[in-house]
Amino acid sequence: MTGTVYKSTGSWYTVKTELGAFYDCRIKGKFRIKDIKSTNPIAVGDVVGFDVETLDNKTTGIIHTIHDRENYIVRKSVNLSRQTHIIAANIDQVFLLITINNPPTLTSFIDRFLVTTQAYRIKTVLVFNKMDAYDEENVMEVKYLSSIYKKIGYECIEVSALTGKNIDHLKGLMKNKTSMFAGHSGVGKSTLVNAIEPGLNLKTKEISMQHMQGQHTTTFAEMFDLSFGAKIIDTPGIKGFGVVDMDKEEIGDYFPEFFALKHQCRFNNCLHIEEPQCAVKEALDKDDISFSRYRSYLQILEGDDEHYRTEEWMK
Ligand code: GDP
Ligand code: ZN
Repeated sequence: MTGTVYKSTGSWYTVKTELGAFYDCRIKGKFRIKDIKSTNPIAVGDVVGFDVETLDNKTTGIIHTIHDRENYIVRKSVNLSRQTHIIAANIDQVFLLITINNPPTLTSFIDRFLVTTQAYRIKTVLVFNKMDAYDEENVMEVKYLSSIYKKIGYECIEVSALTGKNIDHLKGLMKNKTSMFAGHSGVGKSTLVNAIEPGLNLKTKEISMQHMQGQHTTTFAEMFDLSFGAKIIDTPGIKGFGVVDMDKEEIGDYFPEFFALKHQCRFNNCLHIEEPQCAVKEALDKDDISFSRYRSYLQILEGDDEHYRTEEWMK
């Protein structure tokens, strides 16, 4: 049989078949996946093959294969072992919630987040929330930010979890897809999810940093079916999408507008800083590339590695 992993609690996996039946499954023997060294071989979102066995009137499944992943996100433990834990796999899209104030979301944060999802090959939609609470100037800022990100290919939508503005549009984008929600604490993730599917009540509330560091929190991601044919992956206690190790030369590739131009730079390993005949710098001078994007790029490039490798994205 084939199914999708909805929940994992250490050694047991809840798998749902296409016909809608749930099975408690274990992994057959020593199950290792090539190339991925992680503490968990299988994660929520994985599509797996399994056999069913019945013992003492109890039916369970034995997972024997895992299908190739479209993508997956990982978390590295903060202690010395730096072990990798796969949080979730096969994510169609992430909605990054942004608020102009209460709390403010900075472009440096947005851009770091987008670099990460770009590296993970996960589509990201920017969701400007709390539109009901903004004054004219705030709305102008939303329009300005949207124009920057739309121009480079990111979909942007304006919503209010409180008044329901554009919630139907958001639900339309979620239909038949597996989605995740991200953003700073307080931007309205819980409120929005509740507006999308009343009564679902995800545990999106993050636990405190202290808690995270004090012990090894074993919080597990979980997938939920929504009433209108969408799936959400909830990641309680997991704050970030951080932890992508990348070379300096690679970072520009995750800025789509830089990547589109890099073949026009004189040097093929151009870092777009001081090099002569750099197409990215030329575009920046002509305002074709946004200054805030370029500033974020420099911050990531020059910033201390720890900052962009282990940053807690959703603080
Ligand atoms: P989370 O930490 O991202 O899950 O944020 P919450 O959903 O807990 O929301 C934080 C605060 O923002 C709460 O007081 C919500 O009532 C408020 N909030 C959420 N969405 C909106 C919105 O669209 N408009 C306004 N004015 N407040 C909102
Ligand atoms: Zn260049």
